[in-house]
Amino acid sequence: MGTIVITGSAGGIGQATRERLALNGHEVIGVDIRDAEVIADLSTPEGRTEMIGAVATATGGRIDGLVAGAGITGPDPEQVVSINYFGAVATVEGLRPLLAQGTDASAVAISSNSSTTVADLPNGLIDACLGDNEAQARELAGSDPGTAYATSKLALARWVRRTAIGGDWIGSGIRLNAVAPGLIDTPLVADNLDMIMNLGDVYPIPIGRPGRAAEVANLLAFLLSPDASLFCGSVVFMDGGSDAALNADAWPTTNTTAERWPIGD
Ligand code: NAD
Repeated sequence: MGTIVITGSAGGIGQATRERLALNGHEVIGVDIRDAEVIADLSTPEGRTEMIGAVATATGGRIDGLVAGAGITGPDPEQVVSINYFGAVATVEGLRPLLAQGTDASAVAISSNSSTTVADLPNGLIDACLGDNEAQARELAGSDPGTAYATSKLALARWVRRTAIGGDWIGSGIRLNAVAPGLIDTPLVADNLDMIMNLGDVYPIPIGRPGRAAEVANLLAFLLSPDASLFCGSVVFMDGGSDAALNADAWPTTNTTAERWPIGD
């Protein structure tokens, strides 16, 4: 049993995850702009700082798990980038000292399969995110919330992979991973669910239905648990086959950055 923080806890996936974790006997500290133990606006640096202080107070400075799940799709591309990327990264980084006090500590960020299914994402915005330049990222956020959303989620997945392998994380025994859900039936997509289900070849959904928040909650609960003890820097897609349908051969890909190691020699 542990103490687990969930941002976006009042939403579809966050709510399902808190219910799933409560079944396992965990204490959940929810963070959201509404209906949560800690009310905080993760779109601003001030809100993020206040959240970290409030969570430290609520938990006595020790947590065992974290889900960075707060996110939006629109209408403002600048806010999309600020909440989905900078809010998530500040949450994971800011709560790392609390995870360091925990047992079998594990953090999971919620990315999205839009990271690989939306075409032609702007590299400048990805670089501004990964360069930790929020002002520039907001300038480059453009006018299309969908592109900003997918780009923020791609940058978040890459940040997780870069960060998870470092001394502050797996080097200190703290696992960090991401999940990349496809279309999940939650309030986030309620207005566009039917439209997205019918995009055909542009966004195929081989399983033939949207995902359920409880299905994402199950994966999050697993990644937070000691059963996932070998996971580090993974971005786990769970999307009913959409990424596989669009990108079957794009991954796994060959290693072009290191010398060949002597397997089979
Ligand atoms: P949701 O809208 O039901 O929940 C999101 C929650 O985030 C809400 O409770 C909302 O109040 C909170 N939030 C929004 N702005 C905030 C802010 N500034 N500060 C603090 N909290 C804030 O959506 P969901 O589908 O449950 O999404 C959860 C996560 O999963 C998001 O990061 C989303 O991008 C991601 N995701 C969702 C889908 C999907 O199809 N639903 C697919 C892939 C990824």
